[in-house]
Amino acid sequence: MTGASTIAPDEAIIDVVGVRKTFPSIGSRGGCVALDDVHMSVRRGEVVVIIGPSGSGKSTLLRTLNALVAVDRGVIRIAGREVTDPKTDLPKLRADVGMVFQHFNLFQHKTALENVVLPQRVVRRRSASEARDRALALLDRVGVLDRQDHYPGQLSGGQQQRVAIARSLAMDPSVMLFDEATSALDPEMIGGILDLMRGLAEDGMTMVAVTHEMGFARDVADRVIFMDGGAVVESGAPEAVFANPQSERARRFLSQIH
Ligand code: ADP
Ligand code: MG
Repeated sequence: MTGASTIAPDEAIIDVVGVRKTFPSIGSRGGCVALDDVHMSVRRGEVVVIIGPSGSGKSTLLRTLNALVAVDRGVIRIAGREVTDPKTDLPKLRADVGMVFQHFNLFQHKTALENVVLPQRVVRRRSASEARDRALALLDRVGVLDRQDHYPGQLSGGQQQRVAIARSLAMDPSVMLFDEATSALDPEMIGGILDLMRGLAEDGMTMVAVTHEMGFARDVADRVIFMDGGAVVESGAPEAVFANPQSERARRFLSQIH
């Protein structure tokens, strides 16, 4: 099997080629085209921020990258694996491609520490002590070491998101995906999570983040992708996309959120 380590620094670690995804219609309307011939390439260490209106396909695109959504057509390669190949080991793929969701998705009946230990045991086959040491180090890094024995229901949204990030990092992912990781948080919790994401970017993590935090996009993104109607409409440096959007659709979207 090809490992992520075989990818050279300037080579694409994510390659999305001609991806189409439709969802069956609900009711009398025709099927919904969520992704319409999407092409995207991300280099190792690059930080890409995806912006765009609600329903433009941002979440669907992220979810295709770790096979939470199966595509109708096209090819996706990520971290040395071919997502669209039916023989791909999905648990390993999802360990290599960490994903952080808006709603944390922690195991509710497990403590913070257990949430970070368990996937290491199951997917990475680490010993109990190795998994525990790594989990404690990561809970410390994300600032919730003192909450290790708390259940998700006993944690604030910001703390749960910190645990979720630690859980992903414990798998030593090659890529991290963030889907509106701060959208469900109280305002005073947002900055801390964005700081964590910024720290990961500074450490060289390859990241694709869907966010409405334009300050984060400006400061941290190497590239901003604007999606609309299931398509990548613009892609460029944040300064270029924000200051001088090329399409009417991007202009309209940016004028609404500024
Ligand atoms: P965004 O994240 O940009 O708001 P999504 O990727 O969630 O957009 O959705 C893109 C389109 O696909 C929308 O029209 C949405 O209604 C549709 N869609 C997404 N997920 C599903 C699903 N599981 N079943 C049916 N339609 C879906
Ligand atoms: Mg979404």
